[in-house]
Amino acid sequence: MTTPITVAYGDGIGPEIMEATLKILEHAKADITIDVIQIGELIYKAGISSGIETRAWDILHKNKVLLKAPITTPQGGGVKSLNVTLRKTLGLYANVRPCIAYSPFIATHHPQMDVVIIRENEEDLYAGIEHQQTYDVVQCLKLISRPGCERIVRYAFEYARLNQRKKVTCFSKDNIMKLTDGLFHKIFNKISAEYPEIGADHFIIDIGTARLAVKPESFDVIVTLNLYGDIISDVAAEISGSVGLGGSANIGNNCAMFEAIHGSAPDIAGQGIANPSGLLLAAIMMLVHIHQPQAATAIHNAWLRTIEEGIHTADIYNPNISRERVGTQAFAEAVIQRLGQVPQHFTPIHYSTNATTLKTVLSQHVNLPVEARPERRLVGVDIFIFWEHQSAATLAETIQTLPTPLKLRLITSRGTKIWPEGQAETLITDHWRCRFQGSETITSHDIIELLQQLTLKGIEFIKIENLYYFGDEPGFTKAQGE
Ligand code: NAD
Repeated sequence: MTTPITVAYGDGIGPEIMEATLKILEHAKADITIDVIQIGELIYKAGISSGIETRAWDILHKNKVLLKAPITTPQGGGVKSLNVTLRKTLGLYANVRPCIAYSPFIATHHPQMDVVIIRENEEDLYAGIEHQQTYDVVQCLKLISRPGCERIVRYAFEYARLNQRKKVTCFSKDNIMKLTDGLFHKIFNKISAEYPEIGADHFIIDIGTARLAVKPESFDVIVTLNLYGDIISDVAAEISGSVGLGGSANIGNNCAMFEAIHGSAPDIAGQGIANPSGLLLAAIMMLVHIHQPQAATAIHNAWLRTIEEGIHTADIYNPNISRERVGTQAFAEAVIQRLGQVPQHFTPIHYSTNATTLKTVLSQHVNLPVEARPERRLVGVDIFIFWEHQSAATLAETIQTLPTPLKLRLITSRGTKIWPEGQAETLITDHWRCRFQGSETITSHDIIELLQQLTLKGIEFIKIENLYYFGDEPGFTKAQGE
């Protein structure tokens, strides 16, 4: 049965590389029908700040599969990134980016590189929850959820199993962010135990990125949080050869989006020289996803054959290696001519229907059974205060006169303890965190009373965070210097 897909031609080089890609799909007899939507620059210019119209959403939800060329994001405020909007609105939680070297036909310092980066796509600092709280301080909330971690980590291990990968490496920064990144790492350890045939290890993101840049062949599948994944997947694509070669899949429970990793390349738009390979490799991932492994196999092998025969677009052309320098459409013609052939140097690809079962083995939602939930106890509150007088001691003295069962335990400036007995020479701003705790469990009512008392004293609170224990474990971190 033919599969309906949505196609967005995008901006800049988008239309050129999409035309080339669709022509190859047609010759490979991909069984698809196409609905075209207009998104990006034209829509932004029509005054729609999301870059997408309502009827385009209707088509996206109906077809569930989007092949998208890059779009140009206008500079300046007031405009939301359409890529982030698409990923979050369609629930595309897993971003999958294979980064492979095609040595000796495409120059790279890392001929053995074959890494797949699986990035969590919806949470983390990309939740987009930012506030200016005082004159001096702005914040961006890093939100990490247990089910979010579970499904991306499970996705990574299922991907590894189905694609005969040997190892999954977790990148996090849990030496610093003990609760958020700590949760990701903890869940990685728990889920990895269910896949004993697949190796599992962990790197702190900084040294991990350094190793990836220098010795990428020591990695296989990497799973990581949104921001780190965004950064390392560009590092990995770049060192594999060319940014023009990278394709990516964004997978959700119901919908999926396939795109090149590069942007709209306005510097070469309209010249007919762009490399369509990134979008084509994304389209191959799409064909696997929609259960058309034969077409995917034929195109991938023809593409590899084209590359190893030295037929190269300008971005990867090297007079010492390449045979012929071609434009976008001539490259597509070369791939079409080789449909049905297999590569001589590279190992031929064979996709099976097996790989398409990935979606079905992943559970929809992972809810913690109620009986497994530890008791949740309110023990205190962090109250963030706008206070322009530079003295923590004065603030503490004022607060300590308040008739409340909650005791002021500490005051921090940007996370560092400055009261009591603060030794820190840290910068003082107009933004203070005051931590209150009771002798035992407290109630919401205690907190509301405290907020009222602070307000009556002319102390302005800007936000509060409740402090909970989950069983015996505190659900909050200590201050630096505490
Ligand atoms: P870019 O990826 O468009 O271009 C970077 C460099 O790589 C340029 O020199 C370009 O000519 C080259 N390049 C990129 N793709 C190529 C290809 N297929 N063949 C040959 N050369 C190629 O990055 P940029 O210049 O930073 O961004 C341009 C626009 O694209 C911006 O508006 C940005 O917001 C947008 N963008 C969109 C997406 C997306 O839609 N997924 C992703 C990244 C950037």
